[in-house]
Amino acid sequence: MKKIYFFIAVLAILTGCALNLVTGRKHLNLVNESEVQEMAASHYRDFLSENRALNPATNANAAMVARVGARIANAVTTYYNNQGKQAVLEGFNWEFNTIDNDEVNAWAMPGGKVMVYTGLLAVTRNETALAIVMGHEIAHIVAKHGSERMSQALVQQMGGLALSVAIAQQPQQTQNLFLVSYGIGSQVGAMLPWSRQQETEADKYGLIFAAIAGYDPREAIPFWQRMSEAGGGSPPEFLSTHPSDETRMKNLRKFMPEALKHYTPLR
Ligand SMILES: [Zn+2]
Repeated sequence: MKKIYFFIAVLAILTGCALNLVTGRKHLNLVNESEVQEMAASHYRDFLSENRALNPATNANAAMVARVGARIANAVTTYYNNQGKQAVLEGFNWEFNTIDNDEVNAWAMPGGKVMVYTGLLAVTRNETALAIVMGHEIAHIVAKHGSERMSQALVQQMGGLALSVAIAQQPQQTQNLFLVSYGIGSQVGAMLPWSRQQETEADKYGLIFAAIAGYDPREAIPFWQRMSEAGGGSPPEFLSTHPSDETRMKNLRKFMPEALKHYTPLR
């Protein structure tokens, strides 16, 4: 049985590599974007039935999250439309919600489902820094980083099964792989940090998206500094999936001139 799994895994790797439109990098892809978008929409609904979202009509923080989200979504759409890469956002149906929770956390799922915890706002402190972190999260989903991780997990843990087959045969395990792969799996145990390469890509595109949306990308430097110092002895949930260190600061400085070319301040 193991041998068969091995051969299936090798076959999957040989046939499952696809060129990523956003990063220009070839990576393993065993998951169909519409399938993960469906899983994301269903998990997002479940999450919102267990955690009541704040109403943007009556809550200033929720209104800010909705405003920043809408501006970044517009920026991302413009950026890829201008390059003739509409396919990047195929099937997207953006949603931005805020929950009243002290955890320093935020995440985004395929198809544009974004969640911000009020605890994060103590670290962002201003709208521009919120745009930096939301741009970063959105860059992870636009670059399909979760799909890359999920494909690797399908090979390592389920013998290279296609996602649709894995869902049919092992629904619970597949659901857990999904949550861990997209960095939202604290309830299922171990949190996997994004790879260095994925973090660098999310920083690069996140800065560009925030800048096009009219937010000063330079705020990323003090924001990530505050984030890395947050929590003292017990680092925030967010840092377990997005570790922050000197390499990030170096990369942010390196990307800044490019990001600033896209920046027109909001009037
Ligand atoms: Zn990240």
